[in-house]
Amino acid sequence: MRLTFLGTGAVDAVPLRGCDCRACANARAFPQHCRAPASARLDLPDRSLMIDAGRGDFGPLIDANPIDALLLTHFHVDHVQGLFPFRWGLAPQLTVYAPDDPAGCADLLRHTGCLEFATLDAFKPIALGRLTVTPVPLHHSRPTLGYVFDDGQTRLAYLTDTAALPEDTRAFLIQHAPETMVLDCTHPPGAGCGNHNTPDEVCAEHRAIQPRRTLMTHVSHSLDAWLMANPAACLPGMAIASDGQVIEPAI
Ligand SMILES: [Zn+2]
Ligand SMILES: [Zn+2]
Ligand SMILES: [Zn+2]
Repeated sequence: MRLTFLGTGAVDAVPLRGCDCRACANARAFPQHCRAPASARLDLPDRSLMIDAGRGDFGPLIDANPIDALLLTHFHVDHVQGLFPFRWGLAPQLTVYAPDDPAGCADLLRHTGCLEFATLDAFKPIALGRLTVTPVPLHHSRPTLGYVFDDGQTRLAYLTDTAALPEDTRAFLIQHAPETMVLDCTHPPGAGCGNHNTPDEVCAEHRAIQPRRTLMTHVSHSLDAWLMANPAACLPGMAIASDGQVIEPAI
């Protein structure tokens, strides 16, 4: 399986409008360091999925490269905003797997257009072709699911948004040993908000779960600036993801 990061930014993305910090200045000078809202694409031999729809160009993205279904982590606007114009399109229905959150986001669950929502339950896996997708609960300000993908050969966990991990999710991950773990890391140390990780929390989860590598996503400009000044903050095996990065977990 192949995961492509379509966005690795937090709700305010990078560069932040009006900000001249080191990270924002760097992103303006070098567009490869910009960060769109966190989202990703998963390609397998028999199907393609997307995780979250925070990019404003969600529709054109999947018109250019179609998908079979969308997995939502949660209904915060930076994860669903691309669906607002998309739903009125004339294209065929798109199945959207999502956590059970009746409030949704604005009128998205009342006026669904071409979207067909299906609710997922934590730890109840679904089969999509040969891929098994297990939703795992995350610790965030509204119902949020991470996803563990198993194609029969290797495993990948995609976990955002979250502050640390719930105990049952951590236990599941230790037992199922993902080769690669993609994990929320939004704020620099000391700026944690109870809804997202700092590098200290990511280090703790990386030590507990011991994937071959942990990639940090949902990165704010302030964390980017902090990491530029503190490059040794990551443990061996930990790295920060970037927009456009492609990974293929080893078998
Ligand atoms: Zn978010
Ligand atoms: Zn900035
Ligand atoms: Zn969120």
